[in-house]
Amino acid sequence: MKNNHVGRWIIILTLVALFWIPLMGSPQKRPVQLTYDGLVQKIDGGGAVRAVVSADGQTVTITGTDHERYTAHIGPQAPRIQELLDKKKVPVEYRSPAQDMGILGIIQILMTLFLPLFLIFAFIGLFRAGRGGGGGQSPFSWGRSNARVVVQGTGVTFSDVAGADEAKVELEEVVTALKDPSRFTSVGALIPRGVLLVGPPGTGKTLLARAVAGEAGVPFFSMAGTQFVEMFVGVGAARVRDLFRKAKEAAPCIIFIDEIDSVGRQRGNGLGNGNDEHEQTLNQLLTELDGFAGNTGVILIGATNRPDVLDAALLRPGRFDRQVVIDLPDINGRSAILAVHAKGKPLANDVDLQRIARRTPGFSGADLANVLNEAAILAAREGVAQVSIANINAAIERVVAGAEKKGRVIGTEQRRLVAYHEAGHALIGLLCQGYDSVEKVSIVPRGMAAGLTWFAPDENALGLRSKGYYLQEIRVALGGRAAEYLVFGSDGFTNGASNDLQRVAEVVHRMCTEWGMGDVLGHAALRQSQGGIFLGRRIGSGEMNCSPELAARLDDEERELVDAAFEKTCGLLEQHRDALDALAAMLIERETVDRDELLALADQFHIRSSREG
Ligand code: ADP
Ligand code: ZN
Repeated sequence: MKNNHVGRWIIILTLVALFWIPLMGSPQKRPVQLTYDGLVQKIDGGGAVRAVVSADGQTVTITGTDHERYTAHIGPQAPRIQELLDKKKVPVEYRSPAQDMGILGIIQILMTLFLPLFLIFAFIGLFRAGRGGGGGQSPFSWGRSNARVVVQGTGVTFSDVAGADEAKVELEEVVTALKDPSRFTSVGALIPRGVLLVGPPGTGKTLLARAVAGEAGVPFFSMAGTQFVEMFVGVGAARVRDLFRKAKEAAPCIIFIDEIDSVGRQRGNGLGNGNDEHEQTLNQLLTELDGFAGNTGVILIGATNRPDVLDAALLRPGRFDRQVVIDLPDINGRSAILAVHAKGKPLANDVDLQRIARRTPGFSGADLANVLNEAAILAAREGVAQVSIANINAAIERVVAGAEKKGRVIGTEQRRLVAYHEAGHALIGLLCQGYDSVEKVSIVPRGMAAGLTWFAPDENALGLRSKGYYLQEIRVALGGRAAEYLVFGSDGFTNGASNDLQRVAEVVHRMCTEWGMGDVLGHAALRQSQGGIFLGRRIGSGEMNCSPELAARLDDEERELVDAAFEKTCGLLEQHRDALDALAAMLIERETVDRDELLALADQFHIRSSREG
């Protein structure tokens, strides 16, 4: 990279030098300056072989018999010089203004026009290179795609991708099409052109695309959608063109565009000047997709987690005609992914991957890979030869909540407050039946949080949640604030609950406006307004599409729901104040309380979870 920059600057300096050198020393010697009288004498004495009159008629330059050139300003005496030249039969040339300016003049004009532009481009190039984000391109390569290319085989195969079996079956077909296109063409079928991988980040979309290239043994061109989006109109389109040109030369091959939604967002979202550029880029992409007829052997794989914001034109048959959905892995998927990444890591006997999989609902493949890697790092730090279950548990918590900040000193009062806050969450969690089970409470600060209460969601819920579940979620989230309120008084509670309160606001809002769980709308949802330009069509947080009166009634309803939940939560904590105090004391003493201890505490204080609370 460094060398490249040096190379670029040499080019720029050379160009500047080429422009400037003619200005500094003229290749033709400057004529000798004479006075008017001196010039007349020279001509009169027969010392001139030819003469040149400038366009404005004010200057005469003669070439003498000695091959020297002489020039003089003649001003109003021009007619007399003319006469004299005629008399001496000296051939006279009259210059046109352009000639008069000469090469130097033209260069000068070019320089004044282009040098500033040139410098601006050079500086932008330098700036972008310095920023590193733009991949360090010089202004000369703006239209180039700078895709990352793996020329022969990515070395990744389907066996490196765990779980995602349905996706593999679909992609198997793409591999066949790349390896043996005649299988398709002989029966008149069109070779797939575009495959859209849809799924949350870290679920292995890139990995799958690489595996397709690896299985088929073809080159792999990869680029992020954001790399097409530039501030200058036309650059993105040029990059798309360049990428496809290179790919066609290397066909059969795979083009992979990550985050394709940043190029393929719906057109006409009316966003100032970036819009033109965006449309041009998208149009170019569509053109290229249509352009490679069924047999060029270039297959485009796009990845996104926002298929809803994609322009409909992209999804039309013949473009991204296949969509493959990749979800977060289920327990078996997680166990398989863990097995893939456990290769090469010596695990202690107490490590059971299936159990780890059970403990990590909601983790993506990337998260799981990260867990095992962190665990190995922790083991290495301890200087032990095997990765223990303790290492893995610590790594899971790290991945979920960031590293523990053991070194941070917290005042006793602060500790007491955090302990009561977390104890409030945990106790309400214990009291709410049907809500996720409390796994662990801790007042060790991590990341941004002063303390944390872990809940394990029910794996079998399939994303379907009842109204009762959400009401309990609201109470559990309010538990921290309620405990602070109860123990430290109506002036003593802190801003520590702000994340909790945001979650509450979101759940309540969606209950009342989206999920038909409120009384104002009944079993109905508000139509979502199609706002949100950059975020695409947002869900749940868009402006409301209703009359101000209805909006006010909904606001009131949401407010009442939260108030009622807060009161209920405070009541529950008051009722179980002895358990709250005991749990807070345990936390202050031990910092972390796990599930078994929590259940023992529940027994001791006769806490019975009930649906009603
Ligand atoms: P995406 O493109 O969906 O954001 P990636 O393909 O970049 O996700 O995944 C990041 C990393 O996570 C991969 O390099 C791999 O190590 C790991 N990973 C994700 N999903 C899987 C999987 N199904 N099997 C094995 N490893 C996976
Ligand atoms: Zn909290």
